[in-house]
Amino acid sequence: MSTASNPTIEPIGSDALRARYRAERDKRLRTDGSNQYLEPTGPFAHFRDDPYSERVERDPVTDEVTVAVIGAGFAGLTTGARLAEAGVTDVRLIEGGGDVGGAWYWNRYPGAMCDTASMVYLPLLEETGHMPSQKYTMGHENFAHAQRIARHFNLHENGLFSTEVTSIDWDEDAARWVIRTDRGDEVRAQFVAMGTGPMHRPKLPGIPGIESFAGHCFHTSRWDYGYTGGGPTGEAMDHLFDKRVGIIGTGATAVQAIPHLARDAGELFVFQRTPSSIDIRNNRPTDPDEFAALEPGWQRCWLENFATLQTGGFTDEDLVMDGWTDIAKRIRDRVIVEMTTTGEAFTPELVARAYEDSDDEKMNEIRARVDEIVTDETTAEALKPWYRQLCKRPCFHDEYLDAYNRPNTHLIDTDGKGVEAIDATGVWAAGNHYPLDCLVFASGFDVHLAHSATYETTGRGGRTLSEHWADGMRSLHGNHVAGFPNLFIVGLNQGANLISNVTHNLTEAATAIAAVVAHALAVGATEVEVTAEAEEAWVAQFEGSTRGFLGNLDCTPGYYNNEGADPTPAQRLNACGYPDGPVAYFQLLDAWRTSGDFDGLTFNVQPKVAPGPKSTG
Ligand code: NDP
Repeated sequence: MSTASNPTIEPIGSDALRARYRAERDKRLRTDGSNQYLEPTGPFAHFRDDPYSERVERDPVTDEVTVAVIGAGFAGLTTGARLAEAGVTDVRLIEGGGDVGGAWYWNRYPGAMCDTASMVYLPLLEETGHMPSQKYTMGHENFAHAQRIARHFNLHENGLFSTEVTSIDWDEDAARWVIRTDRGDEVRAQFVAMGTGPMHRPKLPGIPGIESFAGHCFHTSRWDYGYTGGGPTGEAMDHLFDKRVGIIGTGATAVQAIPHLARDAGELFVFQRTPSSIDIRNNRPTDPDEFAALEPGWQRCWLENFATLQTGGFTDEDLVMDGWTDIAKRIRDRVIVEMTTTGEAFTPELVARAYEDSDDEKMNEIRARVDEIVTDETTAEALKPWYRQLCKRPCFHDEYLDAYNRPNTHLIDTDGKGVEAIDATGVWAAGNHYPLDCLVFASGFDVHLAHSATYETTGRGGRTLSEHWADGMRSLHGNHVAGFPNLFIVGLNQGANLISNVTHNLTEAATAIAAVVAHALAVGATEVEVTAEAEEAWVAQFEGSTRGFLGNLDCTPGYYNNEGADPTPAQRLNACGYPDGPVAYFQLLDAWRTSGDFDGLTFNVQPKVAPGPKSTG
């Protein structure tokens, strides 16, 4: 039941609110699920071209390194950094982009910034001595920080950039990995770490006629400043002043880009299928005095504090204090109030109810905020999200909603149906045709939860990683795979799977992997490999576990819940996280690493490389 005067506010926990959520989800469910999207290959391959760096021809590289790191985003960089700290400096980054940075190399769209507080998001702040300029840093500062890490640990020098790996094969006799690339390189490496990220493959909406658009178009992760003018540090996109620009998508990326397009485009048409939830950002500069007063080791404390609050734990203080931790604190407060006023015991049911009620309260606030900011009532109604906050990526922005008050900015809401068709001159949506000069696809990424690499990795006995993982990911800690010696995965899955702060997962993985490599080198091991039993035992604990990035089928569809389709057992394994939660996982990994036993791994010290001709003396 809505209050008569305000349809935004449904009573917390009410049947009317649940019914509205279900109805909004149901009208968005599609039979083609994730298959509705197109990969940018074939006629769409140009959507992956690098607009930021010119490809410079070079001779193929054929040499050997101690460690090859595939991917130079924060996964690869933290691994390179931790290796350097452990004294392993013969490290080669191999990266498709023209520089380090990963997500922050590619995502230079106007307004790009991080939704996670920089003090916990940006890795290695103490090691590099960097003070983030703001609570939430812009994309260009994050990119600059990636470059800073590379400089600090000397990771640029030996790197191969604008280079795509095409295959990785284990040479059993030599106990070396052989990495081939699209540049004709053949790099041999004793160890390989793969930090290819879950979201580096842009995807396009499979809208009929998409190939026929004759105007200018690009994906947000390949922003064409040559066409728009301006640049990633916020300069005006001065070529757009007389252009009709369309943008498809209203996810976290679009929310950040739209205020800039609204400011600079002649006319802006935002094609919306599902509105994002837009909470308060409240960005502010970092206080240099507060920063200077932090004790050594502060970043680890902040990371632990944020992870604890994010995952249902309790702490005395909230160091980060943002929208992510706000919901956790609300739940905690509700639980405490219930327990003290009614004498109810602390149970999972009580916490679940507190979570639901807090979420209802938060989403009512978010919907009310739309009414406060957006002056046109129809537009305001269409911008209200009707789902639980964590059904989709929560957004935090203080200019997005206001952009719709500009006379040049038009929300074209499709009531959950999406864009109908694209033709040579524009877009068909909600029954109308919108002629456009430029069309921006803010349609997201092909999310590969187990392993996003575009190449095949072939381990012992010619068995490929795809074969080994045909029924889902198998690993120890998410990092080690049986049959793939000297190979490490730097990721989230089958590990902490803490999605509110991706880099925390990566830094911990990098630290553990560097310790294993350093130990292998110290004891002269030619091979280090997880035993089949240890892998089996690690995977077995995910049976029936609900921890991880599995999504909720009650939610409106999106990549958070496999577009509303029940995940297969393999998808569940790919997406799962440590059953006792991220904080327990980080503690376990830390104890495992520092014990020096590396339980579950075997270190083979037998010489593998055929020795030279035997001495007859
Ligand atoms: P998303 O996948 O989140 O969004 C894609 C958008 O395209 C959705 O709004 C989707 O609508 C829309 N869409 C797809 N098909 C159609 C169609 N046929 N018609 C109309 N609309 C359509 O991608 P993003 O790039 O926005 O975000 C990806 C992820 O990147 C985020 O979730 C986040 O994890 C990360 N990110 C992180 C940031 C940070 O601060 N660290 C900043 C920005 C992004 P629908 O919702 O209906 O499916």
